[in-house]
Amino acid sequence: MAELKIIGGGLAGCEAAWQAAQRGVKVKLYEMKPVQFSPAHTNPDLCELVCSNSLKGAGLDNACGLLKEEMRRMGSLVIACADETSVPAGGALAVDRDKFAALVTKRIREHENIEIINELVGDINPDEYTIVASGPLTHGSLCDAIARLTGAEYLSFYDAAAPVIETESIDFDKVYKSARYGKGTADYINCPMDKDEYTAFYEALINAERAPLHEDIDKPNVFEGCMPVEIMASRGVDTLRFGPLKPKGLPDPKTGREPYAVVQLRQDNTEGTMFNMVGFQTNLKFGEQKRVFSMIPGLENANFLRLGVMHHNTYINSPEVLKATFGMINYPKVYFAGQITGVEGYVESAVSGLMAGMNAAKAMKGEEELVLPTSTVTGALSNYITVGAVKGRFQPMNANFGIIEHHVGRIKNKKERYLAIAEEALQSLGEALGN
Ligand SMILES: Cc1cc2nc3c(=O)[nH]c(=O)nc-3n(C[C@H](O)[C@H](O)[C@H](O)COP(=O)(O)OP(=O)(O)OC[C@H]3O[C@@H](n4cnc5c(N)ncnc54)[C@H](O)[C@@H]3O)c2cc1C
Repeated sequence: MAELKIIGGGLAGCEAAWQAAQRGVKVKLYEMKPVQFSPAHTNPDLCELVCSNSLKGAGLDNACGLLKEEMRRMGSLVIACADETSVPAGGALAVDRDKFAALVTKRIREHENIEIINELVGDINPDEYTIVASGPLTHGSLCDAIARLTGAEYLSFYDAAAPVIETESIDFDKVYKSARYGKGTADYINCPMDKDEYTAFYEALINAERAPLHEDIDKPNVFEGCMPVEIMASRGVDTLRFGPLKPKGLPDPKTGREPYAVVQLRQDNTEGTMFNMVGFQTNLKFGEQKRVFSMIPGLENANFLRLGVMHHNTYINSPEVLKATFGMINYPKVYFAGQITGVEGYVESAVSGLMAGMNAAKAMKGEEELVLPTSTVTGALSNYITVGAVKGRFQPMNANFGIIEHHVGRIKNKKERYLAIAEEALQSLGEALGN
């Protein structure tokens, strides 16, 4: 049987390689690291998480939690490794990013059907079975090869990463650990602000100097989920207080009252020596980040282990060029997976790799490819990205309950409603997989 070539060893490429290899297909996984690193990648291992260490909500009342559960039931490598390397994060699934990448790399390296080739790929041969999973920061002439195959103009926007702080540099006399509304474990560090502190911080933030970009990031093609904190702040003085700095359900134990605003920090590694600033993706100049973020109570002497950055992001016009299987309409042996298809997020990228890897393997073995029903979140997301989105107005999409088809009637309580939809989705998945 022919071999499957996968370009890119990130979230999507690793999951795709695993799925195909588990079905008996020989895989050559091409990854340009450590020969070449993108501006956001630093770890030579596969499956690197470039920004937050959170894979979002763990519960079934969260669409990304449901997505992870569907993936578990489909034998996902990425989710299995995330479960094994998780760190405490309240209701979310967060991981120790280095342990996570090392574990995925080990599993891939040990698989008898996978060969890892550390090489920069510059072209695509449409006559070979190939999955393109080179991510939002696709490097070099591969971009031109993709443009030639898709025949479509690239769409692009910017993604942003938040700073990471050394835990021992946080002033624990000023901050407190708690869970919102006392639900779950108190894993987040909360930095409370009174009105004067917030106002001074807000003024400094909106007036701070931003790093230059090749494109105006105020344009609407900045995806909402990656909005830099300074751009969000510039929408109005209270926007942050109703967004990432929301104090609701987080009373300060010193006063017993909810502060005016709260900056939250989330654990970033197993040892708990690093915390990242939740919602603080930013494009401020490095010196400005240190100056402005050190105004946050508790962070006056913070040691910033990593500062926020913004990067170009590239994705193809999937609804015009892909089938619901993630294979190309015009080149049946070529598949796309990951952020480059327009899915948004770590887990979403991995699930598109799961479907592309499974379907490429099925096609190579002469089996019928699988398209999951839109009553599952995997099927709904795949459908939206490949065929469902409005042509000409395609924007990246993450997992959410809005795209799932269901028969759940009116349930007032949102959590109960989502749980009912999730139950239906898991049942549909079981039926589609023949379980
Ligand atoms: C700065 C930044 C911050 C982000 N923050 C978050 C976040 O906090 N949460 C979130 O859910 N998502 C975030 N994202 C989106 C994130 O990239 C995706 O969710 C996810 O990593 C995409 O997975 P992927 O497999 O498509 O790409 P990647 O994980 O980027 O993997 C692509 C791989 O392909 C390799 N590659 C590229 N070009 C070539 C080539 N020519 N030849 C060989 N190999 C190549 C790269 O080295 C890389 O390892 C962020 C993205 C960026 C750029």
